[in-house]
Parts: sequence; structure tokens; C-alpha cells
Amino acid sequence: MRFHVLTLFPEMIAEAAGHSILGRGVRSGLIGVSPVNIRDFAINKHGQVDDAPYGGGAGMVLMPTPVFDAYQHVKGQLANPGAPVVYLSPQGRVLTQEIAQEFSQREEIVLLCGHYEGIDQRVIDEIVTDEISIGDYVLTGGELPALVLMDAVARLVPGVLGKEASHMEESFAVKAVAPDKNARLLEHPHYTRPAEFMGHKVPDVLLSGHHKEIEAWRHVQSVERTQARRPDLLEG
Ligand code: SAM
Repeated sequence: MRFHVLTLFPEMIAEAAGHSILGRGVRSGLIGVSPVNIRDFAINKHGQVDDAPYGGGAGMVLMPTPVFDAYQHVKGQLANPGAPVVYLSPQGRVLTQEIAQEFSQREEIVLLCGHYEGIDQRVIDEIVTDEISIGDYVLTGGELPALVLMDAVARLVPGVLGKEASHMEESFAVKAVAPDKNARLLEHPHYTRPAEFMGHKVPDVLLSGHHKEIEAWRHVQSVERTQARRPDLLEG
């Protein structure tokens, strides 16, 4: 899978993509990250990519031409011209594990990072297929949201995580909660050595060696946590 990232801060993307699981995915060749600097497509020799908003108001707006030209440059490199073009925006649908799973099926994704007050609406209308938010708050730019999306998606690409099964066991994986009902559950708590820490003991069942009982205990913990912390996941 390859992420093409249109951004004013390509170093932010390249640097962060070199670490942890994303970095491992890149080094193993399973993940490609290609940052493209929108400023390379500036409208003049001063590197101008933004201008004041029509109608007045605070802040600057990314101009449509540099964004469109940067996209055209990427489009010429796409193996699949139908690749989604995702604008990271606080006004998009909020990123979930389900959306990350959908994107993990794609071979290429173009990510568009805004800045300032945002991007001229006309180029959004022209090239963007999806708008994704990482939550109901406003950040300065789309780079951190793009990295969040890339991390969430890359770890679902087969082979990127060391242990293939690990994300099937994590929070938001779909599990049976009744004979005819499935739900996305939060994961059970984890413990490691020492067996006692500041007077708190690891639950006995985890030391018992009974795999079926451990599995059952973890499932109950998972359901109880979900009920207590995210009852919305169990609704319906
Ligand atoms: N004026 C915009 C509004 O009120 O909707 C906010 C612009 S924000 C300061 C600049 C850029 O940061 C956006 O174009 C977007 O790319 C990115 N951004 C900010 N918050 C975000 C969020 N919660 N999720 C995804 N992207 C976000």
C-alpha cells in the first residue's frame, strides 16, 4: 500500500513515517510513503500558495491551483487512477476502526493536508473523494491527522504487524456478545511481570494456565469495560 501525501510540511510526514510500526512497514516494503510538497507547485517565484479569503475574514486560504497541480503530479504516478483522495478535515466523517479497515483494502491512497483556514472549496469539489476527521477539535494542519490515519491503516495491512492475529484481538474488533449478536468491544486489561506490584496482584486466573478460563475471563472483562466506558458500542 502506498500513501501519497500532499502537504506543506513533507518533512513532518517523512520523519514520522520512519519510526515504529509504520517505519517497519516502510522498511519491509509493505508500505510506501510519498510526501509531495504543495509549495513546489506555488503560483510564483515567491512560493505563494495561499491568499486572503474572498468575502473577508481572518486567516489565509490555500489556493486551488497549487493543490490541483500537486494532485496532477501525483495522479501521473498512481498505479490505480481510481485511488481515493482523502482530505483531512475537521468537517469530515470521524475516523473509526471500520473506516481504517476499508482503507486498508486499497493499494494507494492520496492524502490531502490543509493548513491556515483550509483549502479553496473548488479544488476540494474537483479532486476529493472522502473527508476524514480525527475528532471534534481543530488542529493547525492536516499532517498529524494524516499520520494518525496512516498508522491506523498501515497496521491492518497483512504482514505489517509482527503477529498477524494481534489486531483481531484489539479494541473495536467485532466479537460475539450473544448467540445472534456481534459488537465492537474494547479489549480486556493486560498484565505482565511482576505478579505483584505495589500490593496489587495479577488476577489468579491469568496464572492458572487454563486457556479456556483465561479466554472466558478476558471476554467478560472486555464486555464489562465496553459497557462501562463505551456503552454506545453495544447499542442496538
Ligand atoms: N477553518 C477550518 C474549519 O473551521 O473547519 C479549520 C481549518 S484547520 C485550522 C487547518 C487544517 O487542519 C484543515 O484544513 C485540516 O486539513 C486540518 N485539520 C484540523 N483539524 C482537523 C481534524 N480534527 N481532523 C482532520 N484534519 C484536521
